[in-house]
Amino acid sequence: MINIFWFRRDLRLNDNAGLYHALKGNSAVLPIFIFDTNILEQLPGKADRRVEFIHTALTGLQQQLKELGSTLVVYHDTPLNAFKQLVKQYRIEAVFTNHDYEPYARDRDESIAQFLKERDIAFHTYKDQVIFEKNEIIKDDGKPYTIFTPYSKKWKARLNEFYLKSYPANKYFNNFHQLAAKRIPSLQEIGFEKTGGEFPTDSPDNAIIKQYDKQRDIPGIQGTSHLGVHLRFGTISIRQLAQKAMKLNETFLSELIWRDFFQMILWHFPHVGKGKAFKAEYDFIKWRNNEAEFTRWREGNTGYPIVDAGMRELNTTGFMHNRVRMITASFLAKHLLIDWRWGEAYFAEKLLDFDLASNNGNWQWAAGCGCDAAPYFRIFNPYTQTKKFDPALTYIKKWVREFEEFTYPAPIVEHETARARCLETYKKGLEKAR
Ligand code: FAD
Repeated sequence: MINIFWFRRDLRLNDNAGLYHALKGNSAVLPIFIFDTNILEQLPGKADRRVEFIHTALTGLQQQLKELGSTLVVYHDTPLNAFKQLVKQYRIEAVFTNHDYEPYARDRDESIAQFLKERDIAFHTYKDQVIFEKNEIIKDDGKPYTIFTPYSKKWKARLNEFYLKSYPANKYFNNFHQLAAKRIPSLQEIGFEKTGGEFPTDSPDNAIIKQYDKQRDIPGIQGTSHLGVHLRFGTISIRQLAQKAMKLNETFLSELIWRDFFQMILWHFPHVGKGKAFKAEYDFIKWRNNEAEFTRWREGNTGYPIVDAGMRELNTTGFMHNRVRMITASFLAKHLLIDWRWGEAYFAEKLLDFDLASNNGNWQWAAGCGCDAAPYFRIFNPYTQTKKFDPALTYIKKWVREFEEFTYPAPIVEHETARARCLETYKKGLEKAR
């Protein structure tokens, strides 16, 4: 008999809740990963940095497991087919894994749980990628929070050592199933190719975290952690990072709470992850959806240097500074009146740290239709934002070198005109909803 540990968005051996519980059991643990063809087939290109990131992380895991006399078994298939093969090959006592709150993942896990149940195999799942999940932080009346500040207050009040304690899986590493190392399929074999880019380090930079509240809004400097992708794929532990945040910087901790918040929202309101506005009345807005303008936004040619700098940073590196994500998102939805879902999908395609809950939550925030969103009549002025956050134009000069030249396009729309048009369109949409 063996136990299976199924890696998903928790690609590390240390402080991994589900893996710890699996290793503590009586049967040896065979770790697996599935390159899910349902997901991979939806990706737009062959050069996908997220797939490459996962592949690199799996190679690292394989090395560690090899040293422990074990191996990772990697499938390239649908999860159901992978489990069909596993039950043919092994006598399985139980499958262990960590929670995933996305709508697709919930359906997938339900069907796998059912498949295993029919074969008398237990399916054990654990919280791992957030500090608090599901109903752990709810209002006194038992309903989920939809406003961040009171959620965050309760989050902090409930926090104690228990929730930050690490899971010392390493104590039980001798319980990995001993097996000669299996080959991980290459990127090419699963239909992808190398992109050549580098990944940010997984070691948090204490100096950046210490200064986070003072520097996080300045896109021209390295003032944020760049840990997003590691949190997304679990190559670092949220508990260890939260401990650090508590010691070093409260504002940084608050960002980690936003992350929990949006996962909680997606769990309770899965419609947001299925193309619907959190506030239904915003689905009555009549978007202009001008394709040519969307192309200019995507390519960073709107004639608004701060917007163009952000889009070019995204297109070149797979990263965009948070302040500029807010500016570019607001610009698309409000200045250009292009459906925020188009922008959300574009970010989803490009961001290395793409995460459905955070991407969707922040896009809805920027468009005004989300929970705790910026009110729709508050419209970012890209020029004022530049003055405030990039006064020496360091960021703009880095990404839009030609911004003062003749060749640089004139603004795609005049700010005051766009503002008035946005207010009018939103107002009409919301009135229609009544
Ligand atoms: P830091 O500023 O160092 O923050 C540390 C961590 O806190 C981040 O890595 C992230 O996990 C979390 N965090 C920070 N800000 C937020 C936030 N506003 N909401 C939720 N979590 C946050 N974040 C994603 O992880 N994935 C996305 O797909 C994503 N899409 C976004 C889309 C838009 C339109 C906007 C405005 C924001 C989006 N964010 C997203 C949030 C934020 O921009 C990124 O988390 C952050 O810029 C990543 O850089 P960093 O790792 O240096 O973050």
